[in-house]
Amino acid sequence: MVASDDPGEEIGWASVAWCNASSKVRRGYPDHYVRLNVSGVDSVRALAAELGGSWLEPTGTLEIAAGPEAGRKLAADARRLDREFGYPAEILTRERVAELADVTLRADETAAFFSRDAVVDPVALLGRLAAAYREGGGRLVRDRVVGFERDGAAIRAVRLAGGTALRAEGGGFAAGAWTPDLAAAAGIAVAMLPRDDGRVPGLVAAVGHGGRAPGPMLLFPEVMVRPAGPRRVLLASDRGDGGVGRASTDEELGAVAEVWRRRAAARVPALEGSEVLDLRLGMRALSGDGLTIAGVPSNTVNAYVLTTHSGFTLAPLLGELAAAEICRGEDQDLLTPYRPTRFEKGPGAT
Ligand SMILES: Cc1cc2nc3c(=O)[nH]c(=O)nc-3n(C[C@H](O)[C@H](O)[C@H](O)COP(=O)(O)OP(=O)(O)OC[C@H]3O[C@@H](n4cnc5c(N)ncnc54)[C@H](O)[C@@H]3O)c2cc1C
Repeated sequence: MVASDDPGEEIGWASVAWCNASSKVRRGYPDHYVRLNVSGVDSVRALAAELGGSWLEPTGTLEIAAGPEAGRKLAADARRLDREFGYPAEILTRERVAELADVTLRADETAAFFSRDAVVDPVALLGRLAAAYREGGGRLVRDRVVGFERDGAAIRAVRLAGGTALRAEGGGFAAGAWTPDLAAAAGIAVAMLPRDDGRVPGLVAAVGHGGRAPGPMLLFPEVMVRPAGPRRVLLASDRGDGGVGRASTDEELGAVAEVWRRRAAARVPALEGSEVLDLRLGMRALSGDGLTIAGVPSNTVNAYVLTTHSGFTLAPLLGELAAAEICRGEDQDLLTPYRPTRFEKGPGAT
């Protein structure tokens, strides 16, 4: 169920929608989560083959590290990904960088390429998914959920803003950063960072240019440049969002975007003379430990919570695993580390 008329409108490009496992070692995630993301990338590619439509661009990622220490770390992370997790990673020579993208490596820089990474067009994907769901006989209801009716440990109905109540055999709570609000309306606690936490809001800037498409996803230390069609890229930062938050004014957001645009133009010749077209501030769905939440909460027998950051990498895999648990009652070992109950402090806590 979505609150908007357009299934892609809420998140739209307020997400970088970079389908990857390459960032997960660098960011220090546990091995089980790196493996989940490696499988997630496979599932996204399998979904693209099954669903059709042109929503997945297999760009790969070119990542650049500045200085000897960061260079050694990038090379070590790339080797680990390749050898331990079977995720192809290549340390690049200058010549190979020039083959892959119109980017010149600076003297103290190291580069790696992750060929399995890709980028997703969220609006095209959601449109295709909604169409496939309808073709399969599914009915999409577009309204805001305002409450639930419970009978002891079970949810019995969902109340909608439009005034109707839908009888429910069960409840799925998957509303991104809004999941705790939605679940709280059913008396279920979900441990996620509040939206005013500095790590939750994330800025994405759309930039128009007249040059060649940049080729791969480009990860510079100072800015991310994500291909988004022939004359457009999205810019974001993998290392903080320039201090922007929900209270930031349009001018403040615009100033951060302009700094990113200049940094990107200094690295990618196609972006010289580019301009910021639009800005969006998205909300990251971050749990208390930064990892996925998937499973049945302890106080409700017929509810399932499913929320994650990196949804454009993980959603198809998580969807399949959750469906096996919900519809066939088959516990999925891959989901064991991500149960909602891991945040409970003791017996009786909800
Ligand atoms: C800046 C930024 C960059 C990101 N970059 C990446 C990336 O590069 N790669 C990646 O994989 N992921 C990325 N993500 C994360 C990714 O966007 C999310 O994981 C994904 O959008 C989560 O999907 P979702 O459907 O769970 O939640 P959302 O996309 O947030 O959608 C939640 C939906 O719930 C609906 N909703 C909320 N409350 C109600 C209600 N009461 N009733 C009915 N509907 C309701 C909303 O209308 C909305 O449609 C990024 C996120 C941000 C913010």
